[in-house]
Amino acid sequence: METCIQKQQVIFIMGATGTGKSRLSIDIATKYSGEIINSDKMQVYKGLDIVTNKITEPEKRGVPHHLLGEIDPEADFTAQDFRYHALSAIRRVLRSDKVPVIVGGSNSFIEALVDDPLSSFRSKYECCFLWLDVSLPVLYSYVAQRVDQMVDAGLVDEVRGIFDRKADYTRGIRKSIGVPELEEYFQAEMEGNDESAENLLEVAISDIKSNTCKLINTQLSKIYRLKKEVGWPIHRVDATTVFEKRGKEAEDAWEEDVLQPCFKIVGDFLKNSMKVQHLY
Ligand code: ATP
Repeated sequence: METCIQKQQVIFIMGATGTGKSRLSIDIATKYSGEIINSDKMQVYKGLDIVTNKITEPEKRGVPHHLLGEIDPEADFTAQDFRYHALSAIRRVLRSDKVPVIVGGSNSFIEALVDDPLSSFRSKYECCFLWLDVSLPVLYSYVAQRVDQMVDAGLVDEVRGIFDRKADYTRGIRKSIGVPELEEYFQAEMEGNDESAENLLEVAISDIKSNTCKLINTQLSKIYRLKKEVGWPIHRVDATTVFEKRGKEAEDAWEEDVLQPCFKIVGDFLKNSMKVQHLY
């Protein structure tokens, strides 16, 4: 007797912070009828939307998101928790005949989902890995500007809202870049030490920038390891030109240098990996 087993398809969008993963995920989800499953370990928590740089409602353009801003910010959400919740979201998305698009910079979460022997993920799902990359000097300068924009958008007040000297800064959302860096500043502010508070704020903002650059480096070394040592078939797409241009030229670069190659990779994947294995 002949049995047909069809692997279901899952798309992953990887890359360092600031490279445009969220925007790409919306473009891909819109074109291929997808839903997003967040794999950023700080964006899973409720709150700190500016600090963690969560996608906004208008930016979502109606695309449903899972595991975004859902978890209690005091809880410790582990890679195992992610695997459990992401698997259940993938099943739900597939049941509604949509394509799951997993997006976020936490490579330990993605690895726990894909390579954990308990879930035998690869035997059930066909994976397409996209890596959105931007040249380092260009990305460093972009994320530094982005921190200044976050400060203008209210980052300091947002973090002040959860400041608690007695809180555990080693778990939950308080581990986000932007939170520990501001602690000394809030302390000086509380003690009414205005002069030192002003200096401490400047130091904190500069630390947030340098810690974001360090995060980029560790994220990239994890992606290199998955691609080169572990052997994941990760497609690298270079978005540098988008960041070097402005206005209409930047939009054109997004279309030509990012969307066209990504749509080709994803389009071929969705067509070709409709493999039917015949078992006798
Ligand atoms: P690690 O095992 O080092 O935590 P990871 O792959 O599991 O790495 P990353 O996404 O690289 O997870 O996050 C590492 C750290 O970077 C987090 O613990 C947090 O401090 C910070 N971080 C990650 N994402 C964000 C974010 N969206 N906003 C602020 N800080 C973040």
